[in-house]
Amino acid sequence: MRRNRVIAFGVLAAALAILLVVLVVNIAGGATPAPVAATKTPSATPTATPTPSPTATPTPTETTPVAPPAPPAFDKAAFSIDDPLSPWVVVNKTRPLNPVDYTPPDLVAVPVAHTWDPLLRAEAAAAIVQMFDAASAEAGLSLASNSAYRSYSSQVSVYDSEPDDATTARPGYSEHQTGWTMDIGAASGNCSLNTCFGDTAEGQWLAANAYRFGFLLRYPADKVEVTGFSFEPWHYRYIGVSLATEMHNTGVTTLEEFFGLPAAPGYLN
Ligand SMILES: [Zn+2]
Repeated sequence: MRRNRVIAFGVLAAALAILLVVLVVNIAGGATPAPVAATKTPSATPTATPTPSPTATPTPTETTPVAPPAPPAFDKAAFSIDDPLSPWVVVNKTRPLNPVDYTPPDLVAVPVAHTWDPLLRAEAAAAIVQMFDAASAEAGLSLASNSAYRSYSSQVSVYDSEPDDATTARPGYSEHQTGWTMDIGAASGNCSLNTCFGDTAEGQWLAANAYRFGFLLRYPADKVEVTGFSFEPWHYRYIGVSLATEMHNTGVTTLEEFFGLPAAPGYLN
């Protein structure tokens, strides 16, 4: 009997061993992972390398100074060039005063050094005082009036005594009759009413600074054919600070050119 038990145990053991081998083989074979490679799509193409956003750099517009608004264009029609009352009235050998015996309404004595008692319209008189004071304060120069307002009748006398159309205006054609004009010299009298006044310190200061006070050197040396008058470095015409400054800044030196008027080299008759 003992031999049978041994045999039975051996058979059982052998069966278990076989079962174990089968299980191991099945597990080993069945556990082989199926290749999953094909399902994974390669994300090889790099998606959008991050470009630096433009807002990262500081925008220069915030620090760029804003251009100031353009100044309004100069209004050339702000005042009349025909009305003898206007500070812009243009009087020359083709544009007599209208009426020819016009008399300004507000003449005042000008309280400055002078050779002949000067009268000007009130606005021009005040500007003359400011300009003479500035010449003294800024440059130590003493100016004087040699002639200012001249009436129609006084221009008759002037023209009769010197009937030279190149140097003396006919009655009714003189800027002096407007009350806006003064012949200015040095208080010393050096070169008064002479072209050499343009070379004096007083003449040079006036040429450079008169516009600041509303005055224009009316008869420049290089515009004789436009104005009809020889160079007169002493003859200053009040036109107001706005127009004088505009002409200074734009480099236009005669009223005829500034207002687009024909040249007036001589009288029409
Ligand atoms: Zn004059």
